[in-house]
Amino acid sequence: MREVKSPANDVSLDFSLTHKGHKGEASQLSRIVQKFGGSSVADAESIKRVARRIADTRADGHEVMIVISAMGDTTDELLELAHRVSPKPNARELDMLLTTGERQSAALLAMALTDLGVAASSYTGSQAGVITTNQHGDARILDITPQRVIDAMSEGDVAIVAGFQGVARETKDITTLGRGASDTTAVALAAAIGADFCEIYTDVDGIFTADPRVVPAARQIPRISYEEMLELAASGAKVLHLRCVEYARAETVPIHVRSSFSYKPGTWVVDQSVIEAEGGNMEQAVISGVAHDTSEAKVTVVGVPDQIGRAAKLFRVIAAKNINVDMIVQNISVGEGRTDISFTAPMGERERAVDALNLAKAEIGFENIVVNDAVGKVSIVGVGMRSHPGVTASFFDALAEAGVNIDMISTSEIRISVVVAVDDVKAAVRAAHTAFGLDAEDVAVVYAGTGR
Ligand code: ASP
Ligand code: MG
Repeated sequence: MREVKSPANDVSLDFSLTHKGHKGEASQLSRIVQKFGGSSVADAESIKRVARRIADTRADGHEVMIVISAMGDTTDELLELAHRVSPKPNARELDMLLTTGERQSAALLAMALTDLGVAASSYTGSQAGVITTNQHGDARILDITPQRVIDAMSEGDVAIVAGFQGVARETKDITTLGRGASDTTAVALAAAIGADFCEIYTDVDGIFTADPRVVPAARQIPRISYEEMLELAASGAKVLHLRCVEYARAETVPIHVRSSFSYKPGTWVVDQSVIEAEGGNMEQAVISGVAHDTSEAKVTVVGVPDQIGRAAKLFRVIAAKNINVDMIVQNISVGEGRTDISFTAPMGERERAVDALNLAKAEIGFENIVVNDAVGKVSIVGVGMRSHPGVTASFFDALAEAGVNIDMISTSEIRISVVVAVDDVKAAVRAAHTAFGLDAEDVAVVYAGTGR
């Protein structure tokens, strides 16, 4: 799929030792993709600050390609503007509009770098060869043909690519890749140009064992495996875009998540084999992190006939609406020969789910639907679970001691998730964090960012 192969699996965590920024010791020369999030380029001053930082990396001799997000809240503002003009904006035009945000910051950054004497040129996603499906607002990357940006780099330019966007292979229309997807652009480009690693610069120091706004004793994780990061991202940890981690794992691109406001090392997201080859995470507890998510609602379909094929019908209706169902639980209903089927789905999609189900009420044969928005999901994630029995019991003990009632449960090989009352989420996260020995002794972390 790519023109240039990414480095193979022999990537070593030595990056964290050799690449310390311009203030570190001897650095080995690397080809690096650096992505700066919206909070890092919120205004003119920050753009100049980021430019200085890139100039430092360049001065160390590294080859750098930059992927940039829109300034601050630009994407939200453009979305709001669109909705003021049109209640249901045309999807193609909305993408044309939203992609201008990243184009602005890319061009401005190129200007700032040029003023510092660093040759730089900006490119749209399309110019950088990001080829996508034609699903406006949520397009997938199909291929990257990065020759143009590779040429720019060979000529000594810092190539700055507008994140979050591409061009549809079939229609040749401009597409966007979903909210927060500049991360994905960065990792995909890193793979396509054979970068040694991809740095995601944000306003937090790295990945934490829990959201420090909820758990003040949360610790920064020095390195974490792709699979754990995937589970955390899917369970509500917002620092990295889910698809970016999927891409990084598929293409074995090491990711370094770090703050653009400091030179501190951040969190490395790498293959589990790399962590094991380096002796494992010494202090590694059974659980690597606790994530929470309050963006889902619980829908209960009451009184579904307990007959073969009914659940299939129900979820066929949901699937036809492209609604992403997360957890599912089936209980015996009060009615004779009937069951209640509950599932969780993103808050923004529960209305459509209920409407679709009601249209198929006769066919599915249920009695009524109950919606509960006041729920939250708490998940514990860790590869250590594979080899440690009793993790579930310890988790549930901790919840019980904290007086938290469990509503739904789901598990994967390295994750246990529960749905609880939304008011219990914080208590549940703290209880789990303490129970699995993740609390730091001293609360030194100063945290204000959102991970953008
Ligand atoms: N600017 C886009 C957004 O706000 C993409 C990104 O920031 O990654 O969703
Ligand atoms: Mg982001």
